[in-house]
Amino acid sequence: MKKKLVILGAGESGTGSAVLAAKRGYDVFVSDNSEIKEKYREILESYKIRWEQGRHTESELFSADEIIKSPGIREDSPVITAIRGKGIPVISEIEFAARYTTGKKICVTGSNGKTTVTSLIYHMLKKAGKNVAMTGNVGNSFAMSVALEPHDYYVIELSSFQLDDMFEFKAEIAILMNITPDHLDRYGYEFQNYIDSKFRITRNQTQSDFLIYWADDPVIRRELSKKDYGMIQLSFSDRTQDKMCAYINNNELMIDYQNKTTSLMTIHELALKGRHNTYNSMAAAIAGKVLNIRKDVIRESLADFQGVEHRLEPVIRVSGINFINDSKATNVNSTWYALECMETPVIWIAGGIDKGNDYSELFQVVSQKVKAVVCLGKDNRKIIEAFGDKVPTIVETATMEEAVRSSYYLAKKGETVLLSPACASFDLFINYEDRGRQFKAAVRNL
Ligand code: ADP
Repeated sequence: MKKKLVILGAGESGTGSAVLAAKRGYDVFVSDNSEIKEKYREILESYKIRWEQGRHTESELFSADEIIKSPGIREDSPVITAIRGKGIPVISEIEFAARYTTGKKICVTGSNGKTTVTSLIYHMLKKAGKNVAMTGNVGNSFAMSVALEPHDYYVIELSSFQLDDMFEFKAEIAILMNITPDHLDRYGYEFQNYIDSKFRITRNQTQSDFLIYWADDPVIRRELSKKDYGMIQLSFSDRTQDKMCAYINNNELMIDYQNKTTSLMTIHELALKGRHNTYNSMAAAIAGKVLNIRKDVIRESLADFQGVEHRLEPVIRVSGINFINDSKATNVNSTWYALECMETPVIWIAGGIDKGNDYSELFQVVSQKVKAVVCLGKDNRKIIEAFGDKVPTIVETATMEEAVRSSYYLAKKGETVLLSPACASFDLFINYEDRGRQFKAAVRNL
């Protein structure tokens, strides 16, 4: 008899899993308790996959041999509790898809920088002429990518939610950018649970696999010191050269790999500016070395990378004022890096849904760089309380248009208006992309 696979959630990863499972001959049923987007419904129909929306039918769920849970579904939701009660194995889309490919998996995780590093490595491998797919949180889901066409390399962006429910999966190359508190509401408000989830990227790695990580992250360092991990560890830093695979020496990005030290390029030649992006470039460069990519190809790809929309994305200059869209900065840490690399006085547009932010981490950089805060959120009290006495001007706005116009009036020639909210966007916008696009449209309308 055919094995029955039930997929919970029909978004990008759920639909990808369904298509892969159907192609592999499973009896597939997709169940989503809200409305499935038309685009995904059409895909399911075209593969003749059975689906339901607006409910979870227990008899369908409980007769599954295995269940694939979308990363958006919480572990403590009633449906998962019920399934766990029945003892049915629950896996993630990534776990499932990995069973059906022999391609090399380069997996990127961390609290910040995932999409940037994933895109950089993809760009590099493309330039090197490799048969590569970019998947995970960016582009097609990993499962869809595996279902549609085999690739030799998969660069996979993994969030902590995707790492949960992975068991046999192994990353041949794992990249761990940083770990700072995020999504704690999904981890019982215990930072350690979130750390454990990120460290699942090292699961099953052996001495022929690689872990690339940021050496200056105290959380990663502490975690690595707890036990012996078998894989080859390669780290990068801009503070120390000792034992580093990538480091900075007199503004040169140096690579020390397999007992050979080379200067790759100067940091001024890197396409992506700012300290955090230097880390991102270093991580990608190490991955390139491990994958035997030629030095000139690594250098060229780090120099001509176009950047990713909504990540410190330059918009335009209006009356000599520089507008930058960093809408993807949805936590305090990413906003810190954005502010830190600003070279002019800043009008800072901030706010939205606060995920338990501790703004004190920003006090110093805000006092140094920010001349005005433009709050853009339904509830701005916490931001006003935190920064009211630290900047000369703080104003409240309720729409993007108003925020952009206020910023424009507050800014002088040579200054920068930076949208880097440190908060989620769902109070006033559909998502961070919508927020970023509204910002760019409002700027262009000035
Ligand atoms: P993620 O996919 O992890 O959310 P992105 O590459 O999309 O990361 O970047 C998200 C935000 O984090 C950007 O606004 C950027 O300014 C900031 N950021 C990017 N790389 C890093 C890094 N290595 N460390 C800290 N912040 C970063």
